Amino acid sequence: MAALTNRLLRAKNGLTFSSLPIFKITRSFSSSIIHNKDKNNVQWVFLGCPGVGKGTYAGRLSSLLGVPHISTGDLVRHELSSSGPLSQELAQIVNQGKLLSDEIIFRLLSKRLKAGEANGESGFILDGFPRTIKQAETLEKVTHVDLVINLKLREDVIIEKCLGRRICSQCGGNFNVASIDIKGENGGRGMVMAPLLPPPNCESKLITRSDDTEDVVKERLRIYNEMRMSKVTYW
Ligand SMILES: [Zn+2]
Repeated sequence: MAALTNRLLRAKNGLTFSSLPIFKITRSFSSSIIHNKDKNNVQWVFLGCPGVGKGTYAGRLSSLLGVPHISTGDLVRHELSSSGPLSQELAQIVNQGKLLSDEIIFRLLSKRLKAGEANGESGFILDGFPRTIKQAETLEKVTHVDLVINLKLREDVIIEKCLGRRICSQCGGNFNVASIDIKGENGGRGMVMAPLLPPPNCESKLITRSDDTEDVVKERLRIYNEMRMSKVTYW
């Protein structure tokens, strides 16, 4: 894993979907993947605090590269919507904004990775896992990670983006109504993040996730910040 150090990408504060650096990165990723098409070489991890946009970036790269985007958030929501034995336990933890135990997340993820392997998937982009050093160590025992991308963003912007999240109750599409426009101060760069608005037929069906309240978002950030240093240091 030490070899990964040189490959750790740190996106600077304020990168947005429309800013050039990320698009340059996606294009160069794309050509290198086409070159290595038959190799199982897209085994990536997206790190960053809750709400930083990992899901959106990972989702776009996943379609571009033809590998599944595996989000622990989605794994959890999938389990919550089932009547499995874990479902009730998960609901309690999530509604309080607490993080799930390593053991629970790892059970969900292992199940998903095995299913993917059986279906001939050629890699993965993990989003939201690992969250702790222990998880990173466990992950390494079962699979290999090629690349770690660590996304960063100002906390006030993260909160605003989290509170702006909306889901279409009909098609499940993810949108964001928050419009970020912060002027640069003292010669620094400003930050503009356009809202990700739904198409007209989804507009009247938007709902907010029950865990996207300001208190829950702040609690998630607080817990994340407690663990952050140790986690990034691992890689
Ligand atoms: Zn819709």
